[in-house]
Amino acid sequence: MDVLGLAKEYEPYIVALRRDFHMHPELSWKEYRTCGVVMDELGKMGIPCVKIGETGVVGTIIGTGSTGNGKTIALRADMDALPIKELNDDLPYKSTVDGAMHACGHDGHTACLLGAAKILNGLKADFRGTVKLFFEPAEEYGGSLSTFEDAGQLAGLDGCFAAHIWADMEAGKISVEPGAKMAGTDLFTLTIRGKGGHASMPHQGIDAIVAASSVIMNLQTIVSRELTPFEPCVVTIGKLTAGQRFNAIADTAVLEGNLRTFNPEIRMQYREIIERIAKNTAAAFRAEAEMTDYTFGTPPVINSPENAAFARETVLKLFGEEALGEMQNVMAGEDFAIFMEKVPGVFAFVGAGNPAIGCSFPHHHGNFNIDESALKITTALYAQYALDFINA
Ligand SMILES: [Zn+2]
Ligand SMILES: [Zn+2]
Repeated sequence: MDVLGLAKEYEPYIVALRRDFHMHPELSWKEYRTCGVVMDELGKMGIPCVKIGETGVVGTIIGTGSTGNGKTIALRADMDALPIKELNDDLPYKSTVDGAMHACGHDGHTACLLGAAKILNGLKADFRGTVKLFFEPAEEYGGSLSTFEDAGQLAGLDGCFAAHIWADMEAGKISVEPGAKMAGTDLFTLTIRGKGGHASMPHQGIDAIVAASSVIMNLQTIVSRELTPFEPCVVTIGKLTAGQRFNAIADTAVLEGNLRTFNPEIRMQYREIIERIAKNTAAAFRAEAEMTDYTFGTPPVINSPENAAFARETVLKLFGEEALGEMQNVMAGEDFAIFMEKVPGVFAFVGAGNPAIGCSFPHHHGNFNIDESALKITTALYAQYALDFINA
């Protein structure tokens, strides 16, 4: 089975799809057109598919061959765009939607998974096993895999695989390195309560703004003074809401923050540390602090050594040693990590950076673009990984 040969043969189809999606970006939970195109394309290939929620799709390819372990592998592509204005004015397939853009490469992921579907469907007489194609909405919004789980689509899966086209890595390189590659990302809200009063009479009030300011400063010592310097961590207060008027003492302050780490144990310590610092700091000013919300977002993306080694063999088979790339970890989150907690899997990064053709802007930038040679690479990787998993 010459998967790479087929990916090259289908390259014009994949590139055309990617450009079509790029011209018609749709924001999280609004991927109606994209979902329609995906279902149409799967339909043309004769691949049965179901809609999940309003814009998700799962297609199923059941191998009819006699070789293979009969296992079921899920391949995931995310489909949503971002509320970012595209600045690539010379691009013939520039976004036609003002203020919306595929600035993360999800247009490519969707196109590549359709390309892989074409390859795998054409080869289905040669393997015994099942490939499930997950087209996921709203990844940028925190993900929608729970809707797939609620629909029963995670049941019976033996493995999973997702790839992210990555502009910060040179085109032609692929990272399937073991360990944590993307951070866990959780959010919290602290409410600080004081006592209102006239701005000229501080002795009659308890200033929630002063207490909150100290809490914010002290929370910065979590990374600098409490956690090990060998683990990258981020504690960010992104929003502070307090007070009503310049000449009144604020009785309440609300802090909203975001936490990042690659380390699952630190992730579990954050809440206790933040609560302790907030309560004790606020108490020093006679105020009270309460953790009014703590939401576990997405866990870190961690490739286990065994699964990373398995994926490495797939890369070697397709592209040889020189394709193996090293990628710097990113503090961004990725909801496929939730999937990987339930089903053993791999998250791969496929290089798409190429400054010579203007592909040097970061993800989520208005000038973001990818070297489209990454599309056939990603397509081949999806298909070959599925076949290797089924034939292992
Ligand atoms: Zn993104
Ligand atoms: Zn992304």
